[in-house]
Amino acid sequence: MPELPEVETIVRGLGPRLRGRRIDGVWWSGQGLHLGRKVDLRGLRAVAVGRAVARVRRRGKYILLEVAGGDDRGIIVHLGMTGQLRVQPAAAERAPHTHVVFPLAGGDELRFVDARRFGWVTPGRPIARAPALAALGPDPLTELDATELATALAEARTPIKAFLLDQRRIAGLGNIYVAEVLFRVGAHPATPARRLARRAPELLAAVREALEGGIARRGTTLRDYVDADGLAGDNLAALLVSGRAGQACARCGAEIRRRVDGGRATFFCPRCQRR
Ligand SMILES: [Zn+2]
Repeated sequence: MPELPEVETIVRGLGPRLRGRRIDGVWWSGQGLHLGRKVDLRGLRAVAVGRAVARVRRRGKYILLEVAGGDDRGIIVHLGMTGQLRVQPAAAERAPHTHVVFPLAGGDELRFVDARRFGWVTPGRPIARAPALAALGPDPLTELDATELATALAEARTPIKAFLLDQRRIAGLGNIYVAEVLFRVGAHPATPARRLARRAPELLAAVREALEGGIARRGTTLRDYVDADGLAGDNLAALLVSGRAGQACARCGAEIRRRVDGGRATFFCPRCQRR
């Protein structure tokens, strides 16, 4: 599933391609996205058609395409598990699983492709009041500060892994980067979050290091993620524990383990990250 670094990489790639370009229409495959939900075609048309893209930005794992007009309207995209957002010539064949298309003035199309259809595309009018965004916590790169994080940790009643995955607390982390963060601070995934309250500055630094490293290497491609050019990211080889079960820990040589809680896998070093 794309996490903050992957979404940030896509946003940086899409910006120059989309800024200033007028959206001329909206097409939908008719297949439900995000657990069968219908795409709000009328809403998308009302928000976007005839307007130029003013800015492409990110909030947590959401991609926000603001349209010109200064009234905070635009298109909100979540990539779910396998979503991709690509700008391609209208004449180029549409990939299988293309579900939403925005024809652009000048002959290109912005295409949302999603094999598993856990992602979604929805109008924001205004973007700031979209329910999904209103519930999001601070962005770990630009908004979260260590004092705020320390308070939240101290009051939490969950394990640190669940805390970091909770989008209402911190927006943008998922399984891969959470495992990397916990390895960096030497915390077992099941450690109560409150026990890390005094180490909040160190934890925040580890979060930023893991995410910024991922962005610098244009994201982690396990299977489906590609950037706005359709290229895989380079971060997989730089991951310290994610996907490395059975391999030797780079720090101590112990065997990296995989554990599953709440249906989600975490990779960790049993020696560096003791309970
Ligand atoms: Zn180790």
